[in-house]
Amino acid sequence: MMNRRNDPYRDIKVYHRFAGFSARGVLALCYKRPRAINLRRGYSWTLRDEAVTCKKCLRLLAAREMEAA
Ligand SMILES: [Zn+2]
Repeated sequence: MMNRRNDPYRDIKVYHRFAGFSARGVLALCYKRPRAINLRRGYSWTLRDEAVTCKKCLRLLAAREMEAA
């Protein structure tokens, strides 16, 4: 399986972990305050933990798993 964090061509989109909806759009897990993801800047979001490429979101997901363990 391809490592999504390997991005030699810098053409992999930043995928944040979906955290909910707001009136302004989709919320990302890594945002301290609920804020809509800016889709125009190449950001996107995913519901699948393994598809997340945002480093902050990945760190938060890892922390969450440790809490649950
Ligand atoms: Zn993120």
